[in-house]
Amino acid sequence: MKVWMSIDMEGVAGVVDWDQCRPGNGASYELGCDLLLGEVNAAIEGAIAGGATEVVVNDSHSRMANLDPRALAGGAQYISGRHKPRYMMEGLDESFDAVFFVGYHGSISGRPSTMSHTYNPEVFSGAKVNGTYVGESGINALVSDHFKVPIAFVSGDEVTWEETAPFAAGAVNVVTKQSITRASAKNLHPTESCRRIREGAREAMERVSKGSVELPQIARPATLDLEFQTGDIADIATWVRGVDRTAERGARIEGTDLLNIFTSFVAVTYITRQAGGR
Ligand SMILES: [Zn+2]
Repeated sequence: MKVWMSIDMEGVAGVVDWDQCRPGNGASYELGCDLLLGEVNAAIEGAIAGGATEVVVNDSHSRMANLDPRALAGGAQYISGRHKPRYMMEGLDESFDAVFFVGYHGSISGRPSTMSHTYNPEVFSGAKVNGTYVGESGINALVSDHFKVPIAFVSGDEVTWEETAPFAAGAVNVVTKQSITRASAKNLHPTESCRRIREGAREAMERVSKGSVELPQIARPATLDLEFQTGDIADIATWVRGVDRTAERGARIEGTDLLNIFTSFVAVTYITRQAGGR
């Protein structure tokens, strides 16, 4: 069985501050990366214990090169570096048996979740798939559904799971921390978080073997509605083919091909980065 993992950082137990998530912050960032590595390796080891024979890890956070590839467990392959055409979902295709989301976090539009955002917080104030507000996990589920690979494992705070559950029936979830505000959380001890992730990942693979994890089942034609921080950003977003303005600060991507919707969304994130000031 082949496992593909998208790893983020804001949902890792013990990570609560942007200093821990951004390169250039010395010891804080090093600690963040260390905590991330622990949870990623726990997920890899658990997946292998549950029957995975190949694991590919797609680094989906910030500059997307947060780990020392030599330190990855299980001989996992590592997709790292920026400007990937499929961004947080780079490398997934129909050859895989399971999708894992590790270290994920809540949406910009939802209730407080540690460092919550939806791709770029300076650009997006909300996103809806088929009319329901989603986080990054819901947008990324478009790609999982397209390739018919179920989301089998999710880790992050409790808001992350609430927002991912509609797309991951039958998945195992591990709650690593309870968010208090966007900048604070009650965290599991990292040793305990890793233990739960290792055990959960093993269980997830067993469920995949039994066929008890469902695809996201996103109804087609599907809509991805985007809400922007400002009207000028919405204006730039419509330069991407397939993106239609719906409001002063809103635009919609619609279609039957979920991968095309996601690809247009990625294009929006790239071209609006300048307008968002980043
Ligand atoms: Zn991130």
